[in-house]
Amino acid sequence: MISRKKFIAGNWKMNKTSAEGVTLVRDIVAAVGKQTDVEVVVCPPFTALESAGAALEGSSVKLGAQNMHFEASGAFTGEISAPMLRAIFTTHVILGHSERRTLFGETDELVNKKVLSALKNQLKPILCVGETLAERESGSTLKVVQTQTERALEGVSKDQAQTLVVAYEPVWAIGTGKVATTEQAQEVHAFIRGLLTKLFTEPVAQKVRILYGGSMKPANAPELLAQKDIDGGLIGGAALEARSFVELVTAAAAIK
Ligand code: PEP
Repeated sequence: MISRKKFIAGNWKMNKTSAEGVTLVRDIVAAVGKQTDVEVVVCPPFTALESAGAALEGSSVKLGAQNMHFEASGAFTGEISAPMLRAIFTTHVILGHSERRTLFGETDELVNKKVLSALKNQLKPILCVGETLAERESGSTLKVVQTQTERALEGVSKDQAQTLVVAYEPVWAIGTGKVATTEQAQEVHAFIRGLLTKLFTEPVAQKVRILYGGSMKPANAPELLAQKDIDGGLIGGAALEARSFVELVTAAAAIK
């Protein structure tokens, strides 16, 4: 059986100034900066990326962005491109987060363009998919997740797919304190791995890390992280304090 390295990513959203970000990264690095059993990524807002990157230099902690434009450059006021992110040593980028989809109108087609652009520029996408409460209640969770995943990954090659990270984030669990049960989460994670098998073959699907996101906290993480197809977490609220974020990394490291 392939063992996948656990993966914990912190999505800071629109929080932390550059100086606050440096303080948070320093605390994280002091606690888990030599951690090699878990891949740890912090995703600050754009204005804190470069300073956070400098603060984590020399550690095992990696740098991720929360969004990007799919074009490399041009007349796109207010946007940031993949080459710009790469130039400041960003390695990962969150794409298709439900807040981008619902608040900023991002479609599956747009998410697909961003995924292709990130991969072309050697950025590893953390692709977010997940259903709303209404979709879960109407029994369409798997269909929604299938459509989002397949559309986002159109045109992605087998080789490229190996670098992907997928985050299953039920929209009703994000920032609400409501967590999916371990059974609910594992069911969707296994379903996503099955989809990846169909799209890219079994060996590739076995390599892709599938994260759970949605009110993951130190108290509920061990049970979720122990599930067969849950390879880590995309963390919002609990990533804003070093203590809880570090506890999540430690919980992931404890799973063997
Ligand atoms: C997120 O926004 O990706 C997230 C999972 O947030 P929270 O942990 O706060 O629910």
